[in-house]
Formats: sequence, C-alpha cells, structure tokens
Amino acid sequence: MQLEFLGAAETVSGSCFLLRFGMYQVLVDCGMFHGPKELKERNYGSFPFNPLEIDAVILTHAHIDHSGLLPKLVKHGFRGPIYATEATVDLCTIMLPDSAHIQEAEVERKNRRLSRQGKPLLEPIYTRAHADQTLEQFRPMVYDEVVEILPGLAIRMRDAGHILGAAIVEVWVEEEDSRIKLVFSGDIGNLDQPIVQDPTFLKDADYVIVESTYGTRLHQNRDNRRARLGEVVRETMAEGGNLLVPAFALGRTQDLLHELRNLLDAGEIPPIRVYVDSPLAVSATEIFRKHRSFFDFETRTMLEEGRSPFEFAGLHYVQSVEESKRLNTMTGAIIISASGMCDAGRIKHHLRHNLWRPQTGVLLIGYQAEGTLGRQLQDGAETVRIHGEQVKVKAKIHTITGFSAHGDQDALLRWLGEFDGVKRVFVVHGEKQAAHEFAHEITDRLGLKTIVPRLDEVFELTPNTVERLGVVGFSEAQIDPDFAGVIKVWEGRDQIFSGAYGLASRRFGVPNSSETRFAMGSGSRIFTAAAAAILADAGKFTFNTPAARCLPEGVPPWAEGLTIAGLLAEGEDLERRYELVGAIVQAHSGESFVRFVEGHIFEPAAMESTGYYALNRLPSGTATGYICTDEGWVENIFAVPPHGGPTGGAYTTAEDLHRFWQALLGGKLVSEAVLPELLRPFGCQAASRLTAYTVWGSAPGVSMVTTVIPALEQEVTILSNGEVGTDGVYHTVMDFLNKR
Ligand SMILES: [Zn+2]
Ligand SMILES: [Zn+2]
Repeated sequence: MQLEFLGAAETVSGSCFLLRFGMYQVLVDCGMFHGPKELKERNYGSFPFNPLEIDAVILTHAHIDHSGLLPKLVKHGFRGPIYATEATVDLCTIMLPDSAHIQEAEVERKNRRLSRQGKPLLEPIYTRAHADQTLEQFRPMVYDEVVEILPGLAIRMRDAGHILGAAIVEVWVEEEDSRIKLVFSGDIGNLDQPIVQDPTFLKDADYVIVESTYGTRLHQNRDNRRARLGEVVRETMAEGGNLLVPAFALGRTQDLLHELRNLLDAGEIPPIRVYVDSPLAVSATEIFRKHRSFFDFETRTMLEEGRSPFEFAGLHYVQSVEESKRLNTMTGAIIISASGMCDAGRIKHHLRHNLWRPQTGVLLIGYQAEGTLGRQLQDGAETVRIHGEQVKVKAKIHTITGFSAHGDQDALLRWLGEFDGVKRVFVVHGEKQAAHEFAHEITDRLGLKTIVPRLDEVFELTPNTVERLGVVGFSEAQIDPDFAGVIKVWEGRDQIFSGAYGLASRRFGVPNSSETRFAMGSGSRIFTAAAAAILADAGKFTFNTPAARCLPEGVPPWAEGLTIAGLLAEGEDLERRYELVGAIVQAHSGESFVRFVEGHIFEPAAMESTGYYALNRLPSGTATGYICTDEGWVENIFAVPPHGGPTGGAYTTAEDLHRFWQALLGGKLVSEAVLPELLRPFGCQAASRLTAYTVWGSAPGVSMVTTVIPALEQEVTILSNGEVGTDGVYHTVMDFLNKR
C-alpha cells in the first residue's frame, strides 16, 4: 500500500493524502492551499494524479484547507462518492458555494485588469456550478460506525472535537494477506473547547497521521480565556469604543458567542450589543443549531436551560451590505466579522473606520499568519494600509490564544499517548519548524518513531515496514518547465528518485528516458583525472611530480611550475591544463587517451552506454543538445569537439555514472592511496557539512552535474541536453536530501 502526502506536509494548508492499494486510489481530504505564493499556485496547477482514477474521497471536516479543492476535483472529472459526517456535509453546502463565489469574484477582478492590458484572461479554479455538483456526490456518515466503502477498505469516523462535524478517520486497508490500520487525525480539537465534544481517544493503529498546528505551543486554559475576554470587553466598553473581533466564520465565531453568553449570564460583563457581521457565519450558526446533538454536555445543558449561545438579548445577525455599513456609525458594540486574519471580508471595512480611534479595541483570537493584516496589528504596526488607504493604529490590540480550535502540544501528546503498537507517526499540518520540533517531542516523550513527510513524498507501507519511495510531483512543482534531461538520486543501493523530462530530439519528438545518453561537456574531466590516478597507481608518477618531468618533449612554459595535482585543480585555464594531462596519459600508457579511458575505466566499471563520440557518429539513443537563442531553441551542431578527449566529448547515462561512482569509491579503479588525490579537485562541503564530491559539466547545449556524499551514501546525477534549469533542479534535490 502506498501513501502520498500531497498537501499539509511541512505546511498547514492544502490537506490531501492519497492512498493506493490493490486497484484503488482514495483521497483523504482535498484542501486548498493558503499562504506563500508558491503554495497558492498549487491551487491552480493540475493535480499530481488523475482525478478520473480516484475511486472515493474521505473528508475529515468542512474547513476550506481540507475541503476547498473538492469542486476542482469534480471539475476535472471525479464522479465518485465523498464520505463525510452529516454535519460536515451540511457545512459544505455553505462553505463550497461561498468558496466558489470567492474564486469567481477574484478572477473577475483580475480579468478586468488583464482585459484592459489586452492579456489572455484567467479561469476561476472552479465555479458555483462545480461546487453544486460536488454537493451531489456527498455520502453522509454517522460517527462511530464502520463502513466498507470499497472492497478491502473500511473506515470509521470519530469525533475530533475540532469544529462541528470534524472527524478523526480510522482506515483499515486489506491487501492479499496483510491488514493495515491507519488513523488520520484530521484537525484535533482542544480538550476543553466550548460547544463541541473533546476529541475521541483511540487505542490501536499501525500508522498515525497527526496534525501539528500548535505542536510546539501551549494555550491559555479556559477559565483564563473567559476571564481575559471579560476584561477586554469591560475595558473597551468603559472607553466607549467598539470591540472588533476578526473571527473565522466557522467555529471560532460560535465559540466566542458561547463565551459571551456565559459572561453575560454570570453578570461579568454588562448587557451589550453584539453584531455577527458575516453572512457565512450566519448560515454556519444556523447549521450549528440543527446539529445540537453533537454539542458537549455543557452546551446541551445551556440549551435545555433556555440559554442558547446563538440567541440572546442584544445579539444581532447582519446579512446585507447596507446593514453592515450602518455599523460604521455605531459605538460601544462588539462586532464579530470575518476573515479571521483580516486579509479579506467585511472586517477590513470595520478596521478602516475604527482603528484610528484610541477608544477602539481589536481582539485577535485566531492564528495570524505572516504577511496578513492581522499579523501586522499583532506585531504593533503604527499605521496599516487598508483598501489603498493609510490608517493610523490608535486602537488597543489584544490577543487571546485560548480560543484555538486546535489542540496544543499537551493535548496532541495526550491523544497520541493513548495508542498502542504504533509503528510510525507521520507529522503533518504544521509549519515546517513546528512539525519537526513536535516530531522530536513525540519521540522524546512517547518513544514513538516519527516521520515529517515532505510535500509530494510517497511511502510504501506494509504492516511492519515503511519505505520512502521518493517524491512525486517534482515535475509539477519544482522543476523548471523548460528543463530537459534526467534526474537520478541514490541512497545506498536504492534509487530513491528517478525522473526524465523534456525531449531528447525536438525534431522527432523523442522523449528523454532513463536510457538516454547525454553529452557531459567539461564534466568529462573526471575521467581524465581518474586516468591520471590509474597511472599514478602504476608508479608512472605521483600527483606531486612536476608536469615537466612527465612529458618526454617537455611542457609549454605556462605549465613549467605545475605538478600533476596542479594541472588537475579546479580553476582557470582548465581546458589547456586537462589537454596536457591527456597528453601525459597518452605518453605513459602507450595508448590513445580515449582507448586508455575506455579500457581502464568504462570497461571495468561496466559503463556500457558510455563512450567518447564525435558529433557525426553518435550512437542511437543520444540526446541532441539544444541552445537557447533569441529565435528559440537551436540544435547544437557546431560546438562539440570533433573527437572526444581529455576535456570533453564523453556521452553517458545517469545509470552509467552511478556505476562509475560505485566502481571508483569501491576501490575497483584506483587504490585507496590515490583516491583522495584524484577527488581533491572536486571536493566541497554539502549543506550537512559532510564532504561531497561534485563534478559540473557544460558545453553549448549541455549541462550536467553529478555529486556524491560518501558518508551518507548519497548520489545525485542530473544530465541535461538543454541549458535551462539544471542548477535549480540540483538545488531542489540537494535541499530535499539535506532535509531527510
Ligand atoms: Zn480545521
Ligand atoms: Zn486544517
């Protein structure tokens, strides 16, 4: 069985996990990405799978970072069932059309500008029609019931205590004679959240996929939270100002109303006008009322006593824009409005009208991401920009953390601590640093093995083993679309990544593949250095022998002071120095340079697809080099040396270079004594501070790099028949390896 992490990996948004087993493919969540641009772009790109091949979706809860791309999935052909709890299905009937409306409005605004500029128009990620179609595909589930949704796949939803309808999902996968149980935490609630129940504690699982939003933090406890809220309300009312509360329409708004009702009933705050100014929050509250059976004991009791948190004297729900505008002239009221991070929605209008007044209070109760208006306020900005206008911040800014709908570190550890026999915990849905720190914490405190998967990483799971298969979607997300070539990554004996991109021949439309031969350009000099080392092993000279003593006819004046090591060093005049090494090899071996390298390197290392070729005698399966010019791509027919030699002209495959490194480092080509001398010119420090040996090669229409980190048994080879992207791909791959 395979598990792919296509979202919420080292980030909080875009939850999406793909399970492949037998002949089926099932998604758990299909959420929208928020935050930095590179992540948000994934909302627009194609899925790293074929939506037509997805058999079913399991949805943990209605928040957009879990459900927001379902209509896109449907737009691209998914027609299968979407399993979710009844309350989640109900909440999606308002969330998804609202999200479609936002997509359409945003694209309409951008298109007005684009059409003025005469540029091609954008298409929304999806429309209201796709959202409506999505709603048709929902299959409501009840909590705590095991349902077989596909042959070999049973699921059970458990209350996650996060927002209404949120589920922890237990998944049983049966393949041949193995049975694996996975538990997806979804978003896990705090232990003492208002309204919803505490999260369900579970006992058994082979693998747990756990969120880590607040994996490194502790929340204020509930009494503290209520007391602080009372203080902030009393203080602002005494000043005679408005208290603005940016809040997510779903969950946070209802929690706040609940606490306000309690404070009112206890006489801790005076009677007060409260406006909920968010159409979405109004509809969501409606759905909360309908699903009261899922509320916790305290809230059910409140309802029985006729103390509804959603209806009390002074509480008004605002629907229309006109009504919302009327609030601008109001003072001494609490205004709760979306969005929770102040980066969109009606809250921005209220902030513009109130921030400059010293008697105003702003209460932040949710997570404020970097770069949002809410974060600027939280960080103490003196002026902020709202709708193109500079607004002075005279208002008092308050933060209360205890309202989070996510469990803090203690809550998450307590939840994980109940499990028995877990083989591995995958830590997801957290900012990178939080996820990694929380993973350490899990290992330290609970003794469980953890993995923080990277975005697009794939794992093969059996009941007892986890194997990393590499990263899917390198091509989608991180590879320059103009990159043409192959990428191979090895760790120990395993090839952990292999990808082929672009065309070997543009003229004939032949794609690059693992078997394609590529020119190495100046990268061929690694063979020249190896040839010199082989002769040094044979006692013909040492690396410290002056070059002048190695050539019978002497060396040109510029080389007189140089040793063999000096000729091989990286730096200026590489070409003429290596040319000279070639001549020395020829003089001491009694063979042509090319013949010597073939016989002493390519043959013993079994590099059957490698050789020195002239351009007019290339073997089949060789990529044509392309040069990028103003007129587009031009085939490189001029710039390759007529014959291969010590400075270039070798063609190879990534597999063959792997064989080369294995033979070289395994002592098959040269002795241990000369190996360090031969490698010295290529040595550098990897990000891990370990020694790496890296050979870069280029020529017109050629770019390649091959690198080994012997201490980690890692090897990366990138061969390209173009001039675009090799650098970027190399850094992406090295970054990836560094973080493993
Ligand atoms: Zn959530
Ligand atoms: Zn979430």
